Amino acid sequence: MIKVNDNFTLLSPSYLFSEIAKKVSDFSAAHPDTRIIRMGIGDVTRPVCNQAIEALKKAADDEAREATFHGYGPEQGYGFLRDAIAENDYRSRGIDISPDEIFISDGAKSDTGNIGDILSTECRVAITDPVYPVYVDTNVMAGRAGRPMANGQWSRLEYLPCTADNGFCPDLPTGDPDIIYLCFPNNPTGTALTRSQLKTWVDYALSHNALILFDSAYEAYVHDPDVPRSIYEIEGSKDCAIEFRSFSKTAGFTGLRCGYTVIPSRLKGTDSRGNSISLHDLWLRRQSTKFNGASYPIQRAAEALYTPQGRREVRETIDYYMTNAAMLRKGLAEAGLTAYGGQDSPYIWVRTPAGISSWEFFDMLLSRCNVVGTPGCGFGPSGEGYLRLTAFASHEATAEAIERLRKL
Ligand code: PLP
Repeated sequence: MIKVNDNFTLLSPSYLFSEIAKKVSDFSAAHPDTRIIRMGIGDVTRPVCNQAIEALKKAADDEAREATFHGYGPEQGYGFLRDAIAENDYRSRGIDISPDEIFISDGAKSDTGNIGDILSTECRVAITDPVYPVYVDTNVMAGRAGRPMANGQWSRLEYLPCTADNGFCPDLPTGDPDIIYLCFPNNPTGTALTRSQLKTWVDYALSHNALILFDSAYEAYVHDPDVPRSIYEIEGSKDCAIEFRSFSKTAGFTGLRCGYTVIPSRLKGTDSRGNSISLHDLWLRRQSTKFNGASYPIQRAAEALYTPQGRREVRETIDYYMTNAAMLRKGLAEAGLTAYGGQDSPYIWVRTPAGISSWEFFDMLLSRCNVVGTPGCGFGPSGEGYLRLTAFASHEATAEAIERLRKL
């Protein structure tokens, strides 16, 4: 008999987005002439910018010539990309991160999901609620989450509710967690933390020996100068935080696949014998064993995003989506709905009308407006009573969705 990892059997078989896809395809089959506007799954729609595509093509040609062929690359990623990231995303903003502290990957999903490999399965974990489901599910797989309970929570996880009552800024944990997942600007609530709010978390982590896993996949959407784009803007964070970033939502790389993780060289953990261990070195060991790097052409494409023209093109795309976000915020308010987020992120978190659950509101929008959102309860118990809309559709589709919502 082949024994499987029991932890996987604890996971619910249906992934949120498969359930949505099924409902949408059933509706579509029953109403073949209806034009459905999809604002559910958080995928982008604008093409990758020209600078990146030209670099990608050139790098593909490099692979065709003996003199410029690239085989296996450095496990941590090519120096040209790590240098560009350190310079443009950190040093030019006054943050001292060196290229050696940056690990290039095929995206933030893999890294946020895999980081648990280097952390003890005994660690206690705190997550904000609602939350990007990958953090919870990968801790279930690792055996850190305990058992599923009737209230939708996992017995060993500490849930930190983010609701309108606390302005979507979680209260500090009470269960003394070792690991805290923070994602700001947040998916799904679309809200962000100010510098002083994030400082409270860094101070907490430092004084409680906790590790913050900071997912800043949406940093490119930050407009408010008081909202940090990196946790390393906060003093002390290099001793308590790992940062995850992605080119997916920044530059339309959801299909190309590239992201990076920053682990400061001075960030330390402790082994079971009490020895101080570098998390940077452990992650390097993990990556060089289990990962052979993002592809050379993709890393060249990512590098091109940091050229002056690349930066302009990226900014235009972000502005395009943020125009949609502003349209949505205004349209929803005019339709009498309460909505949050959408100012420093591409997500709008809509309160369902009184007495209506997330899934009921989802069904109502699908059947009466032919608009697809994501039920908030799919992101955790505190997401009940909300629905997530994304700003990633076209201007035309966004305007039409708003028109249909008004009629509702
Ligand atoms: N982190 C958050 C919070 C996300 O919402 C997503 C994608 O939706 C990711 C990470 C994954 O990004 P990537 O495409 O780089 O794997």
